Amino acid sequence: MKDRILDEQVDKVANMILDADRIVVFTGAGVSTESGISDFRSPGGLWDRYDPNDFLYQRFLSSPESREKYWEMNSELYNTLVDAKPNRAHYAVVELEKMEKLDCVITQNIDNLHQEAGLSDDKVIELHGTNMWVNCLDCHKRYSRKEIQERLEKGIKVPYCDECGGILKPATISFGQAMPYEETREAEMRSRSSDLFMVIGSSLVVQPAAMMPMYAKEGGGKLVIINMESTSYDRNADVVLRGKAGDIMGRIVDRVKCKG
Ligand code: NAD
Ligand code: ZN
Repeated sequence: MKDRILDEQVDKVANMILDADRIVVFTGAGVSTESGISDFRSPGGLWDRYDPNDFLYQRFLSSPESREKYWEMNSELYNTLVDAKPNRAHYAVVELEKMEKLDCVITQNIDNLHQEAGLSDDKVIELHGTNMWVNCLDCHKRYSRKEIQERLEKGIKVPYCDECGGILKPATISFGQAMPYEETREAEMRSRSSDLFMVIGSSLVVQPAAMMPMYAKEGGGKLVIINMESTSYDRNADVVLRGKAGDIMGRIVDRVKCKG
């Protein structure tokens, strides 16, 4: 029974994709859990083991102890990220690009898995930056995250800039840090002009990113939410699919191909 309902929903979304020209896919940590990267809020996630207050941007800037904790956590996260491979959900999104249906992916993730799955770089808007690069906060010199990991693994607890001695920080957006202006503006514009907006694996609680589904609805687009648990936008969605992103997106894209 449950599977029949899911099957009908898959069919409905496949038809919506066939009718759409400008799909915007919005992804959160849930699109990558099947790749072995845990989300932050679920049990066993990073926030079970670390205190988010230790990762406030202002604390990172002002306290060497916070920087040390930050790098310890980020080092653990980095090792998980480099081992992770894209899953069916990431590949399904690439299929949407191949069908020339995809306007862009707006992601809260910092794991680079959409690009690794083969999505064009210029199709990805990274709202929270990327953990593949590290920036000097003073002279803005850019380092690869891999190079910095080598330093951490040699025993350096807090890395600093070779050029100017400035504070180094992964190119991600921390709590308390301003959202990137260009990416946020672009994401809002794309959301408003989408004709189909698909949320995959986000609890939709982190602002302002979580406003995007609302912009899409205001612009007249249809809204589909694929998530393991309910979100506060479910009642505004045209279709809500409850389950695993990889499984559901795989089924949806297979159905589109059958019909197309
Ligand atoms: P979140 O942890 O708040 O929510 C993730 C959602 O995905 C949850 O509602 C959960 O039920 C759902 N989910 C988990 N596994 C799923 C699956 N297999 N299929 C479908 N749904 C699934 O994450 P968020 O809303 O993305 O926000 C957390 C913040 O932490 C983001 O800003 C993000 O930048 C960051 N983050 C990134 C990564 C990453 O890059 N992979 C991982 C963890 C956290
Ligand atoms: Zn510097």
